[in-house]
Amino acid sequence: MNRQQEFVLRTIEERDVRFVRLWFTDVVGSLKSVALAPAEVEGAFDEGLGFDGSSIEGLARVSESDMLLQPDPSTFQILPWRGETEPTSRMFCDILTPDGEPSPADPRNVLKRTLAKAAEMGFTCYTHPEIEFYLLESDRLGADGGPVPIDQGGYFDHVPGGVAQDFRRTVVNMLESVGISVEFSHHEGGPGQNEIDLRYADALQTADNIMTFRTVVKEVAIQQGAYATFMPKPFTQHPGSGMHTHFSLFEGDTNAFHEPGAQFQLSKTARHFIAGLLRHANEFTAVTNQFVNSYKRLWGGGEAPSYLSWGHNNRSALVRVPLYKPGKGQSARVEYRGIDSATNPYLSYAVLLGAGLKGIEEEYELPEAAEDDIASLTSAERRVLGHSPLPSSLHDAISMMEDSELMAQILGEQVFEYFLRNKRQEWNEYRLEVTPYELHRNLGIL
Ligand code: GLN
Ligand code: MG
Ligand code: MG
Ligand code: MG
Repeated sequence: MNRQQEFVLRTIEERDVRFVRLWFTDVVGSLKSVALAPAEVEGAFDEGLGFDGSSIEGLARVSESDMLLQPDPSTFQILPWRGETEPTSRMFCDILTPDGEPSPADPRNVLKRTLAKAAEMGFTCYTHPEIEFYLLESDRLGADGGPVPIDQGGYFDHVPGGVAQDFRRTVVNMLESVGISVEFSHHEGGPGQNEIDLRYADALQTADNIMTFRTVVKEVAIQQGAYATFMPKPFTQHPGSGMHTHFSLFEGDTNAFHEPGAQFQLSKTARHFIAGLLRHANEFTAVTNQFVNSYKRLWGGGEAPSYLSWGHNNRSALVRVPLYKPGKGQSARVEYRGIDSATNPYLSYAVLLGAGLKGIEEEYELPEAAEDDIASLTSAERRVLGHSPLPSSLHDAISMMEDSELMAQILGEQVFEYFLRNKRQEWNEYRLEVTPYELHRNLGIL
């Protein structure tokens, strides 16, 4: 028993915790939870908790289904939305094989492996996500059968008396009480759309925080009679929900992306990192944008990026280098704008970081920064400038990922194969579907 584990056991006793939930994430990014009685926690620390891995998406074949959950005591928190009496707590878990090895199919382990690689190269990776989502009415559909947003606000709007403000305040308070700091929160561009930005943390902690964040947002929405969705593009005519993520690499206490005097104060390391993101974006987009619906966002306007490009302070680019004040070199970072809010954060951060590290290792050359609004260029202009398109559908993205050695290497064969199989199945279901669009187009109804 180490000190962190002892601390958890002591807190459970002192706070009279009634349930300890063990959390982990499947390959498509759904949160899984099993509740333990407090008396069982010590055993789970010592030996892990056995469960049937074959019942979880992507984890194990039926013939080798026994798996173990190993709670990570550093993630212990009391869950505030469950109330003060008989408190419920949670810990994130690593998944182990029966012989105690980290499971190759555990998304958290995939990210840990990539972070270990960064560490070998001398880097710590920090991430800061901007998470967008829609608040919908929970009990009503529109005349068109689609969802109904909770308000009619727009970007940065203060909606008097609306649900959104109370909602954001409650969410932010709850997040702070489980140790997740929020930088800011505001109404986003679409009606009912909100954004909450988490303070930077190391990439594994950020991925855990995102899983907690989604749960908190959904719980608070229910408490307030609303429904929260992280679906990439719930409305044809309104912007989608992205999860722009800012990356920085530190060598000790120094930001390795910062170089005073260089173009945009960007170091060679940062330039190679961006070049890695651009070179491999087509291969990892199936991961960062994993649903049929994700491509409606990428190609549906509303400031979502559709072309490979990078720019200094250019919000139409796929990769943006935010402006920072002189003397603030420690905040040098690179923002990846392609990723959406419905992604598995562990796998996405692994592929994004892995692609950037590959760029550093191989010293990829970075093309010129884009200065124009990329969406408003003609296709000929984009071709000349080298802004080729991102995959246009999940089908395209799968085809590009299938041939990627780098993705197989970052995800590991098992996750790579399973993920592709799962996504092919989704595409095959989708392409057989007769949609309202077709009924309208060909039959003149709806
Ligand atoms: N909602 C946009 C997207 O899908 C981003 C809008 C913004 O933050 N400026 O990426
Ligand atoms: Mg933002
Ligand atoms: Mg935003
Ligand atoms: Mg942003």
